[in-house]
Amino acid sequence: MIQIIEAVPEEIYDIELEHSLLEANARLARENRALLDQHGIKAIDFMGAIGSGKTTLIGRMVEKLKDRLGVAVFNGDATTSNDADLIAGQGVPVVQIATVNGCHLDANLVGKALRKVDLDKLELIFIENIGNLICPAEFPLGSRARVVVVSVTEGPYMVRKHPHMFLGAALVVINKIDLAGAMNVSVEDLTRDVHTLKPDIKVIPTSCKTGAGLDEVAAALLHA
Ligand code: MG
Ligand code: ZN
Repeated sequence: MIQIIEAVPEEIYDIELEHSLLEANARLARENRALLDQHGIKAIDFMGAIGSGKTTLIGRMVEKLKDRLGVAVFNGDATTSNDADLIAGQGVPVVQIATVNGCHLDANLVGKALRKVDLDKLELIFIENIGNLICPAEFPLGSRARVVVVSVTEGPYMVRKHPHMFLGAALVVINKIDLAGAMNVSVEDLTRDVHTLKPDIKVIPTSCKTGAGLDEVAAALLHA
């Protein structure tokens, strides 16, 4: 079953009236985190461009972990329910967070989504952010860890062009490595670019097509 949250423009405006929009968001993120901690739930949010493969990767993680843990997924999506539909097919609770063309999730929307699920039944929540490489980085959601998904189809300069995204991430997934040869993109170079920005970020190359790296990602998420 899919539940839907929609951004209410006046509410966003209310938050903007506060001294600092980012400060207000950070406060709500801390509240989300406290609520999650209270229930022993780990939330992990996935950021990355449109087409980087966030939904498919989350789907694979759900497949691997849903029999062991109570898993739910929050899908941020500006307008459509395609991603939420795909994940809901796996029989886990899904909340679609429709931002109504907003370009990032914020802690207020995630807080509302948290009130739509039975927290006592969950241990892990995956949050898919809006496909956007800029502002999601500025808006913590209250998650335990942030994951950036980059795909080789985004070209060789993807990491260098969006340093801010990576600085707050605990894990970077370099996805679609089965296409690296065709794209003439070096997975090693992308990995080096990440480590130049921040040496201690874990980087895992994956392919959701061949399954490469997926067990390693699941293990990293469990230990995040
Ligand atoms: Mg998606
Ligand atoms: Zn935005």
